[in-house]
Amino acid sequence: MFNVCHSCGLYRADKIIDPSGSGPYAICPDCGHKHPFQQLPLLIVSGASGAGKSSVCQAMLGKLDHIVLLDSDILWRPEFNKPENKYRDFFETWLRIAKNISQAGRPVVLFGAGIGVPENIEPCVERRYFSNVHYLALVCDDEVLAQRLKARPAWRGSSVQAYIDTHVQFNRWFKEQQNGDPPISLIDTTDVSIEITIKQVKTWINERISFSLKTD
Ligand SMILES: [Zn+2]
Repeated sequence: MFNVCHSCGLYRADKIIDPSGSGPYAICPDCGHKHPFQQLPLLIVSGASGAGKSSVCQAMLGKLDHIVLLDSDILWRPEFNKPENKYRDFFETWLRIAKNISQAGRPVVLFGAGIGVPENIEPCVERRYFSNVHYLALVCDDEVLAQRLKARPAWRGSSVQAYIDTHVQFNRWFKEQQNGDPPISLIDTTDVSIEITIKQVKTWINERISFSLKTD
């Protein structure tokens, strides 16, 4: 287990990252043991409900063998539902899993809604184990988003006006983050077939991975 020091045995998620020399190393803050590890990029694909994220995720699952693609919803449990600490345990858990998967040499691509908000990820203790976190959001026109949500089966509750309003706002928020810090890349799914969107997402993933392997 990565967070348990191989020398002194203490559990520390907050290891000191040393990128120098033959590293990178994760250094135990208690005993100074230097643990070599793979510091890969983490890629996150997000977007408001109705922007196309779930369809793209479903279509791409199991189709790419140079990355590990996962839907962040698979870990969600009621005990993570703690808005008072901004769901921190949920995001820390995902980063810890992604860090451990990355040790096999494949970058992780995570699909999800809240996980695409940098302020949920960047302050996490586990964020330090990634060379970079790249954010992508699928977006579309407000009216198209509302139409897609209204067209869903009633049991999903997404045709309720308050739900639609929330996600229209979320969709607009993503568009404002294109030049944010960190920036969120955008792919517009308005009037675009899912096949085209999938190609665009694959291109975005491959560009980030090849860029990272050259420079990180
Ligand atoms: Zn130690």
